Amino acid sequence: MQIIADTHLHSNFSSDGKNSITEMALSAIEKGLKILTFTDHVDIDYPLHPDPKTGKVEIFNKLNANEYRNALENLQQEMNNKLQILIGVETGLQPNNSIHSRTKDFTDTLNPDFIIASTHCACGQVLAPYDFFKDKTQNDAYQKYLEDVLANLSMTDNYDTAAHLDFIERYYPTKNVEEKLLKYNQFADIIDEILLTLIRKDKALEINTAGIRYGLGVPHPSIEILSRYKELGGKLITIGSDAHRACDIAADFEIAILYMQKAGFDSYCVFKKRQPELIPLKK
Ligand SMILES: [Zn+2]
Ligand SMILES: [Zn+2]
Repeated sequence: MQIIADTHLHSNFSSDGKNSITEMALSAIEKGLKILTFTDHVDIDYPLHPDPKTGKVEIFNKLNANEYRNALENLQQEMNNKLQILIGVETGLQPNNSIHSRTKDFTDTLNPDFIIASTHCACGQVLAPYDFFKDKTQNDAYQKYLEDVLANLSMTDNYDTAAHLDFIERYYPTKNVEEKLLKYNQFADIIDEILLTLIRKDKALEINTAGIRYGLGVPHPSIEILSRYKELGGKLITIGSDAHRACDIAADFEIAILYMQKAGFDSYCVFKKRQPELIPLKK
């Protein structure tokens, strides 16, 4: 059984991406993929903060829509019929009208196949290196993060899927993995509201396998959240490795398949011109 599309990945068009679009595409072909959706970062007004390890200040809104589109269209020519290249973007949102409207201006210019909605900050703060957690209990920190997720997904329709819903668990400052994990039962009310928002708006939920590479042992979101989305009537799943290096494309997709089966999904989707195309899980 195989998944033929990776629909969340970053090239060096993102400031944290390590490889060129060509290197990413060649790796995808090597791994047997048929479709690759590039989703480089646009995080308008991302709070500037130097990386604690490298001292580098990450700037996530440098993407130029026309350059990016041209490069990906040229890549499609180069790849000919070996790989279908789709144009996507990962929009990092904060519940702020100006950020939402400037993000929409960007995506209107890009006119992509696929838009991911992500919440990478909470209360206007970055989640690492942990300033956000300093004056909060874990419960308060996770609740505040989920409130921003809900606000972002409610405020706009300018997205197709919601990425890594429990992203905050990557950053909780403890070495104990079990303690990091965001438990559905503890936040059931707000998570249900988030999932019902997606369902009401016909938006997809993403299975993001980067959680495994972050040492959490599981993809985002948890199997409980994925199963709950199904139970509440959710139908659309997208699958992404969130690779920032060519070698991570399609990483741990066999675990994504197990997750989907366990939650009762028999297909996933790829967005083309903002419309979902369902791809059945092949036996
Ligand atoms: Zn992200
Ligand atoms: Zn990403």
